[in-house]
This record gives sequence, C-alpha cells and structure tokens, in this order.
Amino acid sequence: MMSKAAGPLPSLFTIATLGSHSALQILKGAKDEGFHTLAVVTPHNERLYKSFAFVDEVIVIPRYGDFPKLESELNRRKLILVPHGSFVAYLSLDEHKRMRTPYFGNKAVLDWEADRMRQREWLTRAGLRMPRQFTKADEIDRPVIVKLYGAHGGKGYLFVKNADDFAARASHLVEQRYIIQEYVLGVPVYIHYFYSPLTGKLEIMSMDRRYESNVDSLGRIPLASQEGWDISPSYVVIGNQPISLRESLLAEAFEMGEAVVRTSRELCPPRGLFGAFCLETIVTPESQFFLMEISARIVAGTNLFIDGSPYSYLNYDEPMSTGRRIAREIKNALLSNSLDLVLDQSSRLRLDAGATPDTAAVAVPGPGVPTN
Ligand code: ATP
Repeated sequence: MMSKAAGPLPSLFTIATLGSHSALQILKGAKDEGFHTLAVVTPHNERLYKSFAFVDEVIVIPRYGDFPKLESELNRRKLILVPHGSFVAYLSLDEHKRMRTPYFGNKAVLDWEADRMRQREWLTRAGLRMPRQFTKADEIDRPVIVKLYGAHGGKGYLFVKNADDFAARASHLVEQRYIIQEYVLGVPVYIHYFYSPLTGKLEIMSMDRRYESNVDSLGRIPLASQEGWDISPSYVVIGNQPISLRESLLAEAFEMGEAVVRTSRELCPPRGLFGAFCLETIVTPESQFFLMEISARIVAGTNLFIDGSPYSYLNYDEPMSTGRRIAREIKNALLSNSLDLVLDQSSRLRLDAGATPDTAAVAVPGPGVPTN
C-alpha cells in the first residue's frame, strides 16, 4: 500500500510492550518486520511469554503498575514502546504521559479519549451519529443503558426499560458517576483502523463483533420461557468474533475513520490521532451506524487477525495484523529518517540524544520493506 524505501533497518531497534492484551500480536509483528522484541511481564506471565520464539527478551516486574520504574533502563536503549489497552488500565493517565520513553502514537489524544464527555464532543464534531444521552432520570422516554464510569468490558452496565424502571433499579446509583444513554438495538460492530502519518492514508485493518454474556445468549431461551424469570441483560465481554461488513456499508465505515482523524487534528493540533484506533459502533436494521466509543490504540479484537484479515489482505499480499502494521510504520519511519512523525512529542530527539544501539542483540537486519 505504501511506497517503500528498500533496505534493512539502520541499526537494531527494540519494540517493547507490556505482556498482556495484544502484546503477542504486537511482538510477533515486530519480529516479522526485523525488530528485536521485548516483553515486560509479571511473574505470572513470564513462562508464557518466554515460550514464544519471537519474544527475544523478557523483563519481569512485580506488578504492571511498576512499569514506569523501568523508564531510565528503557531509555538507555534504542527502544520504542507500542501501547495497548493495558497501558491505560494499569497506569494512570499522568504516569502514562510522564514517561519519556519513545512511544508510538500521540499521547495528547489520551485526554480526549479518557473523558466520556470530551469523547462525545470529538465524535459529534466529526459528524458521527451517537446514541442520545439523558442528563436527568425524568427525561428518560425510551429504553436506556446506564454506564458506570470506570467500567471495563461492559461490566456493571444496566439495561433500563423506562423512567419507572430507572427509579426502581438504578436510583441507588446516584452517588456513582454514570451516563444514561439511549439503548440502540442492533449489531455491535467494532472497526479497526490504521492511519499512517507517513503517507496520510487510512486503512481498514479488520473488524469484529464482541460476544457478551449474557445479552448474546438471551435469544437462546424462548421469550415465553423467560417470562417470570428475573433475568437482566449484562454486557460482560467474553470474546470476539470476526465479522465482515456488507460491502455497501464499507464506504461509510471508511468515511467515519477519516472524519475522526480529521477532527482530532483540530482538537489536538497539529498531529491529532495516528496509528491504530477502533470505532465501536452499533448498526441498526436501518443500516445506520451509532458510535458508542472510540479507542485510540490497538484493541483486543484485532487478536483475531494475527494472520491478517480479509480487509488487510486487500491491501497486502502477506499476513498483516494491526501489530505488524504498527511495526512496519515504525520501520518505514526509520528508513526514511522520519521517526519523529510516528512518535509522541514527549520522546522527541531522545533516540538521537545519546541512546546507544541496543546491546541486547547483534545487528540482525530486518527482512527489508516489502513492496506493498
Ligand atoms: P471496553 O472499554 O472494553 O470497550 P466499555 O466498558 O467501554 O468496554 P462499551 O464498549 O461502551 O463498554 O460497551 C459495552 C457493551 O455494551 C457494547 O458492546 C454493547 O453491547 C453495549 N452497549 C454500550 N452502549 C450501548 C448502547 N448505547 N446501546 C446498546 N448497547 C450498548
């Protein structure tokens, strides 16, 4: 898809990440692109990560929250961090932003992503359709979903039929922070994108739908048998299933990705969002996309496609996971002397300013930059 400068990596760089979430995909992709790979793990995960041949090195820390303590050690090397969902889950926003280790992506976007209200402003400014939001319980005039702040993977979400139902089942939540959102009936489709700051091009990498317990199982019990049985739907993510979108919906999916990238440049100028991101949507019977959320990094649903997806196959003649696509972007940046373009500003110049080549490995050239 990109025009490529041919040749091996100038000197051996390490791609590092925390050993969880999508680390295996990221490190496999990094290895395939010729990087040295490092997983930072907890004792519980050490044997697992060491068991993979593409993981060159493992550093063990007691807890993932201790990761920032490794900073000075990491900064002595030619090393680039690739973040994933666990960076947000285990490190505070401040810790995350304070680290100066070269970091793939733009941390400025985190402020817009972490706050649900700012996220809503971002997506609305991008012209995307969002479920209606209710600020007061007595405004509720349709089924809603009550989302607690800080819930992860749909845990603790509450389906509420109407205002009376809210008063009966959700009024005890008043002390907690939550949002009340129109319940959109449709198929949850999570679209995984990659935006290249080097070429200015957007790619759809893959898509998944989440399989959630118990909401996705309710249809297995006839309605008549559910009657009198006090079941409430819950939205706890259990796994992900691949999905391919009706081709007639693809153009809109692509435009939505372009719109969030474009708008992000107004919100966090000049660079905005780049790299991997995901739009979490629900598609209604009228084929309308409603946006639930944006994740500004690689999401776990991409793990279905370590060997590539039908969409990445359209752009590449080789298996291209999102993890590998990230490594390829870093590699292309190195080969064209534009590393600055793919790293957060906090890491600016660090790699030029005294970092020594990685001593952990001899200079193994990468496989070169493939032609597509
Ligand atoms: P993650 O951080 O893992 O993405 P989350 O806690 O942010 O999870 P959401 O992605 O916001 O959770 O939502 C979890 C699930 O709740 C969705 O997959 C969907 O099934 C359901 N859901 C969320 N918002 C709505 C909505 N407005 N209408 C219908 N269902 C919804």
